[in-house]
Amino acid sequence: MKVLGVGAHPDDIEIFMYGLLSIYKKEGHRVYTMIATDGAKGGIITGVELAQKRANESINALKKISLPIFLNLPDGELGGELEHRKIIKENILKIMPDLIITHSENDYHADHRSLSLIIKWAVSHYIPILYCDTLMGVNFNPNYYVDITDHYELKKEAVLKHKTQSPQRFIDLCELMNSYRAAQCNSPKGKYAEAYSFVSSFPFSDIREILPFPLKLRPFHIENQHGFL
Ligand SMILES: [Zn+2]
Repeated sequence: MKVLGVGAHPDDIEIFMYGLLSIYKKEGHRVYTMIATDGAKGGIITGVELAQKRANESINALKKISLPIFLNLPDGELGGELEHRKIIKENILKIMPDLIITHSENDYHADHRSLSLIIKWAVSHYIPILYCDTLMGVNFNPNYYVDITDHYELKKEAVLKHKTQSPQRFIDLCELMNSYRAAQCNSPKGKYAEAYSFVSSFPFSDIREILPFPLKLRPFHIENQHGFL
């Protein structure tokens, strides 16, 4: 199966979907990653110099799962031009993945929201989309949780490669979000999960067949069970 993760900025894939992509990679699937903007506004230095640094950070961060495809669209202005839609669509159709993972249209950053809507338009009814968690889970109601505990150290390593972004703050964020998402499924402390949302749309009314196993069920009422509660 071909799985494509698309992030708006050079560190989004690592923060929001690295665990799941790493599972797909381990299972032997072909994993592709695509970064829509050049990230040239996200730092103390800006412009071409920052964009180049961030591209190298992404290559380094994602090296265990794929070589990223850079679309180099303008940071902070994604979707402002019709051309952006064409470039995103062409690049997705070149791959024709079996599944796309990208941002939710409710996420905090305008580039994340634009990318989400553009991808939904670009793939029409041909490719199913799985939406990743939003920043701090705001306005996001997941319906699929995946256990990333065995991939969590790799995820942290990947996030830390983004040195221009003062990455420790994103490690703190992942610790909070991924342990909270695991705790929502009554997983014991020390477990980590990424949360996703799949919106049914014909003919992809149910895509569980192409998703890795969800988190283990831990009913609350069973005594002596090793869970969060
Ligand atoms: Zn972003």
